[in-house]
Amino acid sequence: MMMGLLLSLVMFILVAVIFHQRLENTIGMLVQVVRQLRVTPPGQPLIIPRIPGIEELEDEITLISDQMQAESEKAQRDALTGLYNRRYMDTLLSELHQQHSPYVLAIIDIDHFKRFNDTFGHPAGDELLKQVAEVLKRSARAYDVPARYGGEEFALLLPNTGLEEALRVAERLRQQISAIINPYAPITASLGVAAYRHGSSPATLLYEADAALYQAKQGGRNRVEVYRPEPPQEAA
Ligand code: GH3
Ligand code: MG
Ligand code: MG
Repeated sequence: MMMGLLLSLVMFILVAVIFHQRLENTIGMLVQVVRQLRVTPPGQPLIIPRIPGIEELEDEITLISDQMQAESEKAQRDALTGLYNRRYMDTLLSELHQQHSPYVLAIIDIDHFKRFNDTFGHPAGDELLKQVAEVLKRSARAYDVPARYGGEEFALLLPNTGLEEALRVAERLRQQISAIINPYAPITASLGVAAYRHGSSPATLLYEADAALYQAKQGGRNRVEVYRPEPPQEAA
C-alpha cells in the first residue's frame, strides 16, 4: 500500500514537471509571437514559430497580423486621394535626412482653388483633388513619392535626383495638371522646388520649397520656381 502511494506520488510529480515544462515552452513561444507582431515592420512577412498543440492559434495570429498591417498602411494614407499623407511624408523626409541621402522636394499647390470650390461646390473640389492625385501617381517616376501634404497642397519627393531632372519632372507635372479635363473649369497649379544641400534639414527644405512656391504665386501662378540659395559671400 505504501509502495503504491509512493509510486503514485512519483508519477504525479513527474507529470507535474513535464506539464510545467510544456507550459513554460508554450508561454515562451507566445511571448515570441507577440514580440514578432510588435517588431515586424509593415510589409514584411511575419515569422510565427510553430506552437505544438495549439496550431489553430497560428491562423488567429496571421489574421491579427494582416489586420495590423492594413491599419498601419491606412494610417499612412490620405482618405480622399489614397496618396501618402503628411505624417508619412514627414517620416520619410526624416529618414532620408538621417541617411544623408540627396533628394529634391516639390510642393504643388492648386491655383485659386478656393474660387473653384466657391463656384462649383466642395464635392466638385474633392473630385478635382482626386484628379490631381491621379496625375501625380501616373506621372511621377516609379521611385518618386507623391503625397497629399495639406488641403489643396501636394508634395513630390524625388530621391537621388539632380535639380535639372527634378525641374523637368515638375514642369511635366504642371503641364499635365493644366491639361486635366473636368466638367467645370480648367485649373492650373504652381510648384515650388528645393534641392537637398549638405547640412539642410527637412524643415529647411520644406521652408525653401514653400518660398519657391510663394515666388511662383507672386510671378503669376501656373509655373515652376526653384529655390536658389544665395551664393556664399566672398571674404573681404
Ligand atoms: P492660391 O492660388 O493662392 O493657392 O489660392 P487658393 O484659393 O488655392 O488658396 P487658399 O489657401 O486661399 O484656398 C485653399 C482652398 O482649398 C480653401 C479650402 O476650401 C480648399 N480646400 C482645402 N482642403 C479641401 C478639401 O479637402 N476639399 C475641398 N473641396 N476643398 C479643400
Ligand atoms: Mg495652399
Ligand atoms: Mg492654392
